[in-house]
Amino acid sequence: MKKSFGKKLVALALAGMLSFGAVPQEVLSKLVGDTIAKFLYIVPQSTLMNARADSDYPDTASYSWNGYTRATATKKEWDASAQDYTLTSESETTTNIKSRVTTQPTCTTKGIEKYTAYFSSAWAGTDSNYKTLPALGHDWGDTEYEWDEEYTSVTAKRVCQRDEEHSETETADTVSSEVTKEATCEETGKMKYYSAGFENEAFEAQTTEIDTDSLGHDWKEAEYVWNDDNTEVTATRGCTRCEKEETETVKTTYNEITAAGCESKGKGKYTSAEFENEAFTVQTKEVDTDPLGHDLEKKNAKESTYLEEGNIEYYVCKRCGKIFRDPEGKHEITMADTVVPRKRNPGDVNLDGEVNIKDVALMKQYLAKWNVSFIYLPNFDVNGDGQYTIADVARLKQYLAKWNVTLE
Ligand SMILES: [Zn+2]
Ligand SMILES: [Zn+2]
Ligand SMILES: [Zn+2]
Repeated sequence: MKKSFGKKLVALALAGMLSFGAVPQEVLSKLVGDTIAKFLYIVPQSTLMNARADSDYPDTASYSWNGYTRATATKKEWDASAQDYTLTSESETTTNIKSRVTTQPTCTTKGIEKYTAYFSSAWAGTDSNYKTLPALGHDWGDTEYEWDEEYTSVTAKRVCQRDEEHSETETADTVSSEVTKEATCEETGKMKYYSAGFENEAFEAQTTEIDTDSLGHDWKEAEYVWNDDNTEVTATRGCTRCEKEETETVKTTYNEITAAGCESKGKGKYTSAEFENEAFTVQTKEVDTDPLGHDLEKKNAKESTYLEEGNIEYYVCKRCGKIFRDPEGKHEITMADTVVPRKRNPGDVNLDGEVNIKDVALMKQYLAKWNVSFIYLPNFDVNGDGQYTIADVARLKQYLAKWNVTLE
């Protein structure tokens, strides 16, 4: 305002030049601005009437505005030759005022609106006034709040809808939090966060509630139980926190490591199938297998004859070949033990069932190395000395003669 008034004084000095038309209004406008230039053209009639100078009575139009809707231009002509300036004619014309914003106001800077009266009379020309338009102020959109990933702070931001370069941002720390629902093994929980207030009064302290992850089960070590005959294994694991239990039963396969014998234990290994539950691992179990016991076959007793040995009743194991006297396989014997010697009838060397002189004759022929067709030597050794000699023949003769001798 002060500055503007100073300009006005400077401009007043130029006023004389104006009356001679030396400085046109357009030029003056460029020198001191439209508003003041206009002012200079009005001033002479209103304030300097008594100065009595030529310049006080210009033959130019003056303007009066009725608000910003209509303007009137007036031109007075003076007779300067008269002692006093004599008003010789007065013209007046009125027109509507048109306006145009020459500088748009922004959110933060003022604008200018130019009002111009365009008169139809050539002498009136145009007259303009300027009005300052106030800065618009920001047109804030809705505030958006964004929490950081850890919910340690929340950032408020609002953006001007007229210019997205205009924004206000402020971050407020989280001041407290509370668990509003405890998470369980299988269900999510809830957590509430509270922010501090903001310095910017347009922003409001925030709260947010988020889901927290379920805890997942806290499994104990798996336990494995074999069934009685080792054909199945059942795996089980429980949670330390809740009642949840996982269980799965799989079949097993058996492989022999060492075969069992009739009397010796064997070794075998059971291996479980894979479990579907990856938490469970394949199980193995080594076991001793019982001795098989003997697989006994009964051999019937066979009586001996003069020609063949016989045998007692005995039992032989089809697997190991061991021989037993009893069907329970408790008393092992040797094959020799089973043999029943050939029958003897001492003296009956021709095996005709009788001991007589024919036998004596055959024995003699044998000792004389005749080519005898048959002789049963076991019956020859009647004196039991293990030899076939003439002594046996003598003993047999004595026996047949009813001597007191025995045949062995
Ligand atoms: Zn703005
Ligand atoms: Zn659980
Ligand atoms: Zn056996």
